[in-house]
Amino acid sequence: MSAPDSTASTSDGPRQDGTRDDCLFCRIVDGSIPSRQVHADEHAVAFLDINGWHRGHTLVIPRRHVDDLVFGPSALPEIAPAIDAVARRLVERLAPDGVNILSSARPAAGQTVFHAHVHVIPRYADAAGFTNLVRPDEVPAAELDAVWHEITDDRT
Ligand code: AMP
Ligand code: ZN
Repeated sequence: MSAPDSTASTSDGPRQDGTRDDCLFCRIVDGSIPSRQVHADEHAVAFLDINGWHRGHTLVIPRRHVDDLVFGPSALPEIAPAIDAVARRLVERLAPDGVNILSSARPAAGQTVFHAHVHVIPRYADAAGFTNLVRPDEVPAAELDAVWHEITDDRT
């Protein structure tokens, strides 16, 4: 019997391109679920967190499906350039007072979406420090649209 093809498409397994039908962030990668995209390259996609904790909170994810960055296949190296580019763009466009870069692996660490992602979170002096990091309030769509334009609009 031959070994299973890890890239074959099944109803709940990965497709040829490494994405999965049953994964929210894979659907964002393939565009079937909309996102406010701020960066894309060969290996990674970045988009605004729909419920960002601070203005400009962005998620960087690998294009292929990986559950998290620690327990399964290694994906951090391939998305590192995108993390760097996103963090620098957020600093350039939003002039925050600080930035957090973090990733949660598995529920004990707080992970809620099981496609690996890195949070890049601009921080502002009026809500400083770790105790103010997580803010569960919903963010109005108009606010997300406004900061998305600030991050992505071309400037001359
Ligand atoms: P974590 O709790 O570390 O797994 O982070 C998951 C993040 O995904 C949360 O901050 C959510 O607000 C965010 N999120 C969930 N659904 C979407 C979506 N459709 N678009 C953008 N961000 C999302
Ligand atoms: Zn996925």
